[in-house]
Amino acid sequence: MKYTIGIDLGGTTMTAGLVDEAYNIVGKITRPTRLPRPAQDLEQALADLCRAVAKDCKIDFADVSYVGIGTPGSVNFTTGFVGYNTNFGYYDWNLGPDLEALLGCKVYVENDANAAAFGEYIAGGAKGFKDAVVITLGTGIGSGIILGGKILRGFNFAAGEMGHTVIVKGGRKCNCGRYGCWERYATSRALSEDAREAMTRHPEA
Ligand SMILES: [Zn+2]
Repeated sequence: MKYTIGIDLGGTTMTAGLVDEAYNIVGKITRPTRLPRPAQDLEQALADLCRAVAKDCKIDFADVSYVGIGTPGSVNFTTGFVGYNTNFGYYDWNLGPDLEALLGCKVYVENDANAAAFGEYIAGGAKGFKDAVVITLGTGIGSGIILGGKILRGFNFAAGEMGHTVIVKGGRKCNCGRYGCWERYATSRALSEDAREAMTRHPEA
């Protein structure tokens, strides 16, 4: 039996799941991401996490065919290079090749929302459909588009950044530099901002 490892790399936590050939999650470990930290340090922690999940399931790491990572940011899937990651503060992060050197197996890197969409397509809510749009809600709004069974990556690997669609003209300022983006209104961060604003407007409540 051969296995693969999938990593969900988030700003707060990172989770590694060991998956068998039928896409069953055999085991999983979550650890804090502990940002800010140097990129090299995080790569070492990711490698440790991969070995730990295999060990936990009593699987020889040699039986892991490859590792796939979903990370925020603009990712070049072909080279495993993360161009820009706002949440982590890394620019030009050579994540894929660096982790391959640490683990000694093939490492694929994909944008986290794209990876989530492909996961839903092969084994989750969109299974059986050739085309799907998956929205991920968290600190931001991510989206992945599956078209004809393939991830739509688009120009500069930036396809499906739907959270940055302007829904309020001249609205709240967004990290991306524009005003009124969807993710400034419909995320956990937006919700707590709404609550704070309401508290200021209604100090009597
Ligand atoms: Zn935006």
